Amino acid sequence: MTQGIAMAAFLFVTDLDHTLVGNDLAMAQLNGQLDAHRRQHGTTIVYSTGRSLTSYRQLKAEKPLLDPDILIVSVGTEIYLANSDSPDLTWAEVLSVNWDRDQVVAIANQFDLTPQPTSEQRPFKVSYFLAAAIAVELLPKLQAILDAKGLEAQVVYSGGKDLDILPCRANKGKALTFVREHLDISPDRTVACGDSGNDLSMFCDRAERGIVVGNAMPELLTWHHANPSSTRYLAKKSCAGGILEGLHYFGFLP
Ligand SMILES: [Mg+2]
Repeated sequence: MTQGIAMAAFLFVTDLDHTLVGNDLAMAQLNGQLDAHRRQHGTTIVYSTGRSLTSYRQLKAEKPLLDPDILIVSVGTEIYLANSDSPDLTWAEVLSVNWDRDQVVAIANQFDLTPQPTSEQRPFKVSYFLAAAIAVELLPKLQAILDAKGLEAQVVYSGGKDLDILPCRANKGKALTFVREHLDISPDRTVACGDSGNDLSMFCDRAERGIVVGNAMPELLTWHHANPSSTRYLAKKSCAGGILEGLHYFGFLP
């Protein structure tokens, strides 16, 4: 890659927990470079997290995160553009189509699932805790019943513990497409970073560049190895160190 490319703006999208956040020293180094790149070249910084807005703000109070240009929370179901306090309505309208939250909850309640705290239950996200050992058998059964009832809902499992049920039109990957098209940035100037199952949609059949951090969860790693792609990089280093490694690999940073 040439120096010239590293001097041009790009769209940087990253998961937070165990991707951007997890190694304070490496994050400080990455933040310094990203902040400078944003000021000098107009690079856009987007966080895409499974956390709710409430839970994101808790993390922001604990860790020195840069202010993102756009914030995507609750596994791609809410998009906050340009520091807005309310989620983007166009995106909410897209997700509303054929989404029946009450029916989804009623079906999930047929299973022995532990609900996540109220703050994590969102208009377009129903969330439970579920142990990995049980998930293997339970997830396909749950998805099959949702499908059989004609509900356009998808089951997403992350971090060996989080079960989210979302509208089929929502996930981190679809939110990424929405934001990228909103900003009118090409896929080859866009890079997404992640570590777990809910990040998979940012990597699966995508034209954007992808960085899987070295500490990625088995649910993502297994898929990555089974579906190699020249536009996706598996870092050796963990968390922000892995992101930096990938940004150098693709030539986004000099
Ligand atoms: Mg994560």
